[in-house]
Amino acid sequence: MKGRFCYVFFFICLIQLWQPVAAQKGASSYVLVIHGGAGTILKKNMTPEKEAAYTASLKKALETGYKVLQSGGSSLDAVEATVRVLEDDSLFNAGKGAVFTHDGRNELDAAIMNGKTRAAGAVAGVTTVRHPVSAARAVMEKSEHVMMVGPGAEKFAKEAGLEIVDPSYFRTQSRWDDLQKVLWDDSVAAAKAHAYTKPEKLGIINHDYKFGTVGAVALDKQGNLAAATSTGGMTNKKYGRIGDSPIIGAGTYANNKTAAISCTGWGEFYIRNVVAYDLSALMEYKGLSVQAAGNTVIKKVGDMGGDGGLIALDRNGHMTMSFNTEGMYRGAVTKDGKIEVHIYKN
Ligand code: ASP
Repeated sequence: MKGRFCYVFFFICLIQLWQPVAAQKGASSYVLVIHGGAGTILKKNMTPEKEAAYTASLKKALETGYKVLQSGGSSLDAVEATVRVLEDDSLFNAGKGAVFTHDGRNELDAAIMNGKTRAAGAVAGVTTVRHPVSAARAVMEKSEHVMMVGPGAEKFAKEAGLEIVDPSYFRTQSRWDDLQKVLWDDSVAAAKAHAYTKPEKLGIINHDYKFGTVGAVALDKQGNLAAATSTGGMTNKKYGRIGDSPIIGAGTYANNKTAAISCTGWGEFYIRNVVAYDLSALMEYKGLSVQAAGNTVIKKVGDMGGDGGLIALDRNGHMTMSFNTEGMYRGAVTKDGKIEVHIYKN
């Protein structure tokens, strides 16, 4: 009887050992993951044209980053190139197409981090740099600092040879209309000061006017991870407000030991929960998988009343796209170049 029990016990142990190996074998190995913001993105509010446009834009960004990785480029180059494509695309709340502040400006934040060295760079509140992610990289590589803000960051970006544009370059009508709607919702007093048009007259039905940040995480052929995030922040944010995206450890983080992470969502909650670093710490100190760690931190954000999502990629090509909103623009490429793009929850 005792012998039979031992035999069964041994058999169960064998199955337990075999299971994770099997799961790992079946899992695709990803090299690049991106997001284009999380929020109330519902299929019923989407036109086929709009859906096709978002899908095409996400694919284009993924193809750009994948090309860099394929040709042996670094994960840092890949995330920068990918985010630049999304910054140029007015569909997303980064670079051109950024949301407006309360007083009608486009103030941009971005960060980048190297998982191998844990070097990092960030800019916040810039209004004239065409590609804020490249300014973040310049801060990382060409200064002894990690974060630069406002006119100083702009001066530095110019000195670094980056493209400088007139602030009006970032303006789009649809983001302007979003601001008018929020102002209308917020208070009649604020609305009066801005001489807005009634939202009904603008034809706004259900604008997801709060989110739309972009981010990328990549794993290169040398096994190094990198992360980058770029955003216009949140519609109607107060003058000088800085969100989580450019804050290393809150909206952006990368460490070869754990994962590369880029977040999107209600920034204040991501700052208070130190979300990106928390995910990394759960992997480093508790041994959680990237997926379990991602789900844990998003739950924490939700429990506190915040919403949003994140993407994270580990050194073995395992990734997660966790979010607690109705949708998140997102996509990924596997080692073999297979591209996937998703928008809605399921
Ligand atoms: N997290 C960004 C911020 O709070 C906004 C977003 O992700 O949409 O600035």
